[in-house]
Amino acid sequence: MPERIYNFSPGPATLPVDVLAQAAKDIVNFNDKGIGLIEMSHRSKEFMAVAEEAESLVRELLNIPSNYKILFLQGGASSQFAMVPMNLLGPGKKGSYLNTGTWAKKAIKEANIIASAHVAYSSEESTFNHVPGDSDYSVDSDSEYLYFVSNNTIYGTQFQSMPKSDKMLVCDMSSDIMSRPFDMNQFGLVFAGAQKNIGPAGGTLVIVRDDLLDRTPDTVPTMFRYNTHADKGSMFNTPPCFAIYIIGLVCKWLKKNGGVTAMEKINKEKAALLYQAIDSTDFYRGHAQKSSRSLMNVTFNLPTPELEARFVAEASAKGFDGLKGHRSIGGCRASIYNAFPQQGVVDLVDFMKEFEKNA
Ligand SMILES: *Cc1c(COP(=O)(O)O)cnc(C)c1O
Repeated sequence: MPERIYNFSPGPATLPVDVLAQAAKDIVNFNDKGIGLIEMSHRSKEFMAVAEEAESLVRELLNIPSNYKILFLQGGASSQFAMVPMNLLGPGKKGSYLNTGTWAKKAIKEANIIASAHVAYSSEESTFNHVPGDSDYSVDSDSEYLYFVSNNTIYGTQFQSMPKSDKMLVCDMSSDIMSRPFDMNQFGLVFAGAQKNIGPAGGTLVIVRDDLLDRTPDTVPTMFRYNTHADKGSMFNTPPCFAIYIIGLVCKWLKKNGGVTAMEKINKEKAALLYQAIDSTDFYRGHAQKSSRSLMNVTFNLPTPELEARFVAEASAKGFDGLKGHRSIGGCRASIYNAFPQQGVVDLVDFMKEFEKNA
């Protein structure tokens, strides 16, 4: 195998190399069946076992109570922006939203197409450089839920603890699921596109409380109803087989490495290295307010856009890929999800110091 570089891509993102090596074998010949994993029927006993194991590992790692269903859907996290209000609201009903970035804003737009979104808080005027504390907003009493994005991938902000509300929480955890433990009991529904922290593009994990499955209005088409997929164990139609399989392998890797509690500890160490480097000089400036800093996406600026472009280019030449910030805020972003190796962060910090010296 050629030497691998450090991949700071925000998503699709770096995966554990052991997982990739296993997948490379299984794609050609799964379990010595003589056919590859992605060539098998999704109803074969081999694939059913793969899907069941993936589901039970997700349940175990995230400590999901038995009154929640775990679904593997397609259409990306973006489809959930619409499926959530289609199923949990419907016409005439309202959900409250915390507008902490691009992904929250897109979800608000969809909610307003289907039902009504109450924007309880927005950090847009400060270029989404923070997330609110519990006392910074109030939720309308007739809202069905409080929707938020736990980690804002583009801006590099993250809720340090989950919001507290007497409403059920609904959360887009696309970019920090499995990076730390959380208590599912506060949530009605959690979803995550796989391609940041747990697998490849093409699979979306949805965890939904049982009793919510009865809420869907009759006007919602079959494929967009959570109960369609819940009733059939995500096998109503062909599921995203490859994504489910990789999610299962990533979960096994997580379990072997101590699960999400161990991940949180490592993630804190990795992020601290970068934030220390940023805070130790005026040359680098963090985008996120300190109390909102993400452990997954570290966003920062250099003194000028020219220096930022040079930084990204020189870093890339040295094998640090994907450091360019999102086009909506510019600057730089180091995405350091679960599978990103600590050594890569150490080496990037060295590179940052050297770059500053020579700038
Ligand atoms: C990447 C991302 C999305 C969009 O995911 P798609 O699978 O491309 O639809 C949504 N929310 C968050 C927090 C993300 O990071």
